Amino acid sequence: MAWEMVVGLEVHAQLRTRTKIFCGCPTAFGAEPNSQVCPVCMGLPGALPVLNRKVVDYALKVALATNCRVAPVSRFARKNYFYPDLPKGYQISQYELPILEHGWIEVADDAGSPKRIGITRIHLEEDAGKLLHPEVPGADYSLVDLNRACVPLVEIVSEPDIRSPGEASRYVKKLREILVYLGVCDGNMNEGSLRVDANISVRPAGTEAFGTRAEIKNLNSFKFLEQALRYEYERQVDLLETGGEVVQETRLFDSHRGVTVGMRSKEEAHDYRYFPDPDLLPVVIEPGWIDAVRDSLPELPDAKRARFREAYGLSAQDADLLCSSRDLADYFERVAERHGDPKAAANWVMGPVLRQLNRDEAPPLADAPVPPGRLADLLALVRDGTLSNNAAKEVFDEMWATGRPPADLVAEKGLEQITDTSALEAQVDAVLAASPDEVAAYRAGKKKLMGFFVGQVMRATRGKANPQAVNQLLRSKLEGG
Ligand code: ADP
Ligand code: MG
Ligand code: ZN
Repeated sequence: MAWEMVVGLEVHAQLRTRTKIFCGCPTAFGAEPNSQVCPVCMGLPGALPVLNRKVVDYALKVALATNCRVAPVSRFARKNYFYPDLPKGYQISQYELPILEHGWIEVADDAGSPKRIGITRIHLEEDAGKLLHPEVPGADYSLVDLNRACVPLVEIVSEPDIRSPGEASRYVKKLREILVYLGVCDGNMNEGSLRVDANISVRPAGTEAFGTRAEIKNLNSFKFLEQALRYEYERQVDLLETGGEVVQETRLFDSHRGVTVGMRSKEEAHDYRYFPDPDLLPVVIEPGWIDAVRDSLPELPDAKRARFREAYGLSAQDADLLCSSRDLADYFERVAERHGDPKAAANWVMGPVLRQLNRDEAPPLADAPVPPGRLADLLALVRDGTLSNNAAKEVFDEMWATGRPPADLVAEKGLEQITDTSALEAQVDAVLAASPDEVAAYRAGKKKLMGFFVGQVMRATRGKANPQAVNQLLRSKLEGG
């Protein structure tokens, strides 16, 4: 019997506000433990939370980009549980009345066709602190860092619409891309800015009813997400085919062994005793607020890719690569605009520019030592024949290393291309004189030797000769006389 995988994902994304969701402490990652805390985020008695307006702004951006309906009124609740990283004894989250509902985004299914994945709800909540377990021999204690406590999160809950590990991964990639484009999340999975819980069940292919699901917590990479789903699918199918039963439970993925392990069953599940937080007012969204956010929305990745294909005649693959970040897409557009040839601009951005950016410790593109205007200046030198393509690549690397303009470097290194026939004639004659056998063979019909002659002249001129000019000159000497 064939079994179908059914998956729904809960994605937690950290919002990139400057300050926390209910207090004014900074959210920056990597600071000294407990250096970004105050009575509110430490949960001291009597401290009162105040909602950060920016968090709601960000949520509205997310709503517009994921086709969600904005609730005119939403509310914060207390989710009660005990854990040392949660000093208040409850997490402030949205429960019955989330701020966003009923959305969708489009991803490719395994056959490459577009498919909508439904978004059930998106709600706001605060993050917890972080426990540190010192690796000191005999240490019988843990330490608590509350810098992350009260950092704003959105939890994005999908419908159980996903049918394969690939689809799950593409869905999270698409979400991440949207959040990063919007500028509301840095998308950094290593630093925990995006965390995924995967709910998975299986059912006989072609049937409607869902099977019992397991929830795999805290998957922090696309690879682990796919591995965990593949493993869990096999485990559930094995169970069902050998007369066993899937129990509803929370599981953890052990990335070293590549397996999922049971953590707690439904019977042991928490009763969170949710109730509305009396310290916070309901969140009321006037329609005018949504309109203002709509006006400030950037072009989203799907729209940008489509426009790049249309307006610049780029392939789907090139448009994908250039739109992989907003900065890269902007950089490309500025080079293309100034230079006038989008294909050449695309090739240079996808080649030399990306190669530099992918090196360790490369600066962010906004601070690149070769701004788009400079690259366009370099491309103009290629177009007007001053530089060969190879020489231009050498100049580009030098521009990147020194931050200097192309014209200076070309003059200094004497890299101008030699197009003047009289200047090339001596070199061509020398090459022909040095290779009498090849000349005879060429004249006897071995035309493929043209490449050999061109190569010799290029070597003699250290790559500076204009290949077209060399070709012409060689042809007239070999065939004309
Ligand atoms: P909980 O309250 O336990 O988190 P929800 O009903 O909110 O449960 O569902 C959480 C996630 O589980 C959602 O993404 C949903 O799509 C997914 N889900 C629900 N039922 C199933 C199922 N039978 N198989 C796979 N995923 C499921
Ligand atoms: Mg849940
Ligand atoms: Zn604080």
